[in-house]
Amino acid sequence: MTPSVIGIDLGTTNSLAAYVRDGKPRVVRDATGAALVPSALCFPGDGSVLVGTPAKARALADPEHTIFSVKRLMGRTLAELAKELPLIPHQIIERDAEAGRKVLHVEVGGREYTPEELSAMILREVRQRAGGATKAVITVPAYFDDAQRQATRDAGRIAGLDVLRIVNEPTAAALAYGLDRRKQGLVAVYDLGGGTFDCSILRLADGVFQVLATNGDTRLGGDDFDRALMAVVARDLGVDLSARDAQLLQHLRDQAERVKIRLSALPEAEFAIDLPDRAMKYRRRFTRDELETLIAPEIDRTLARCRSALKDAGVTVGEIDEVVLVGGATRVPLVRRRVEELFGRKPHTELNPDEVVALGAAVQADILTGGRKDMLLLDVVPLSLGIETLGGVVDKLIYRNSAVPARARTRYTTAVDNQTAVEINVYQGERELAEDCRPLGKFKLAGIPPMPAQFAQVDVTFLVDANGLLTVSAAEQRSGTSMKVTVQPAHGLSEEEIERLVLESVDCAHADFQARLLIELRNKAEGELRHTEKGLAAAGDRIPAEGRQAIEQAIAAVRAAQSGADPQPLRAALDGLAAATRPLAEEMMNAVVSAALKGQSPDSLSLDSPGVES
Ligand code: ADP
Ligand code: MG
Repeated sequence: MTPSVIGIDLGTTNSLAAYVRDGKPRVVRDATGAALVPSALCFPGDGSVLVGTPAKARALADPEHTIFSVKRLMGRTLAELAKELPLIPHQIIERDAEAGRKVLHVEVGGREYTPEELSAMILREVRQRAGGATKAVITVPAYFDDAQRQATRDAGRIAGLDVLRIVNEPTAAALAYGLDRRKQGLVAVYDLGGGTFDCSILRLADGVFQVLATNGDTRLGGDDFDRALMAVVARDLGVDLSARDAQLLQHLRDQAERVKIRLSALPEAEFAIDLPDRAMKYRRRFTRDELETLIAPEIDRTLARCRSALKDAGVTVGEIDEVVLVGGATRVPLVRRRVEELFGRKPHTELNPDEVVALGAAVQADILTGGRKDMLLLDVVPLSLGIETLGGVVDKLIYRNSAVPARARTRYTTAVDNQTAVEINVYQGERELAEDCRPLGKFKLAGIPPMPAQFAQVDVTFLVDANGLLTVSAAEQRSGTSMKVTVQPAHGLSEEEIERLVLESVDCAHADFQARLLIELRNKAEGELRHTEKGLAAAGDRIPAEGRQAIEQAIAAVRAAQSGADPQPLRAALDGLAAATRPLAEEMMNAVVSAALKGQSPDSLSLDSPGVES
């Protein structure tokens, strides 16, 4: 039984899905028990795409063909990414689309992709692991603005998902812990992921959730702990971390993360580098105390952000009733201690911190599809929304941290005589001047009958819906002229582009499937060949010579088909091998049975089944 509705945590570092069964949320795990899919993609150049762990393994060694942290690019403009660009080893291009829209493209592996398409590849992998679910709730950080939420929704659609709702990550985490069952209360959610930190303050009242405030640092996370360890080792080794030695960097990073993770459970761990081709051999023990000294300043910075969040929410630390830890990096014991110290209470850690957001998203998906009907969720507007008025000043209609759905209306008038149209420029941001805020879109209310200046009455209404998406409407009261637009971000994908990408992904589905099939068949062939060779060595002399010859021929056929690009001949060759080896298998089976009857150990004839060896 596969779930049709899932919750997805589309993370900067890791992504995963969860679903509700028998009223209980569970994460989707693969055969090895792993739930996290690293949010990394690799384009090796042969047309295939690696998603997740295999891509992460190559992230630093092959930076040209790999991409990670796509989430940082979602719904952003080139100008907004100015600070990030030096950190991204890819060409990022902004292309003009119709209606003055701009679309961001990333060049990787010799092709261009939009951030939405790249995120869709991760979502598709997560979706596939969940048995191809068709409906999903996807989470985003509470501070994501309209364009970033829209981009996330579009990525879901490209991945073939019906996105039921975009939900804030802290809200999902609180839901996973069932905190909605409290009658009243204030919850602090501390989320330290791979590269980002957020602290959100939520209020609950009679099953209603409201995000009061959110604060954080988009450049602070568990990866900084890795870098602190890497810096120590680099000093020991006398290597320059800024040098473009991709392979060495990959080794150092993998080791650093491993050591960090071990130190969450053990008092000490060894950092080992063994690169014979460079004559580099290095060992160093790190103690937990050492790591704690290295990362204490970073943790202090997160606590300062928590205090700001409390202040923004207008609550004191003593008023907080529950604290929830989210993000893999909160497994670090020092993080737990310091958070407990700050809030003066034990944080919730019963659920895995890197799974709790997906679990909560699954609960929300369940609520939306009727599994639970007793909940209403409220989120907040992350940045103030307003329109430009005379002199380039932004008049804010909806303030930052207002609960959604939110509605606000203000009346404006015309500036000059006989003005028949007013242009409405919508901005997002906290600053006073339009040039310092982010333009969300503009539209013109035309058809106002000629009137003296100051005579027209233009009512502008802002409505932010439950998904955080903004609709602006304007109506001239005296003439009844009105207009309404859903504010499409001034960049990002158009409806047609999304449609095209959805179709394209259906087109590619076949090619993707063929590629996967070929890989699976090649692996199967490896196993069968090994198994047959073992069998020949053990019992080959007990079958007729023609039988042996047939097997040798079948082996050669499999080998020849293995390197081909078409799965069909390989499948046929494998079928041929199976037929040719039947007498051998029977011979071996007889030997095992008679050995067992005689009470002898049939060890030398062990019949390992093909395909299970990996
Ligand atoms: P994101 O929300 O950014 O996608 P996660 O919540 O999955 O990411 O957190 C990933 C971070 O958590 C990484 O830096 C990873 O090394 C770190 N992490 C995972 N497990 C542990 C652990 N046991 N101890 C310390 N850090 C850990
Ligand atoms: Mg996360």
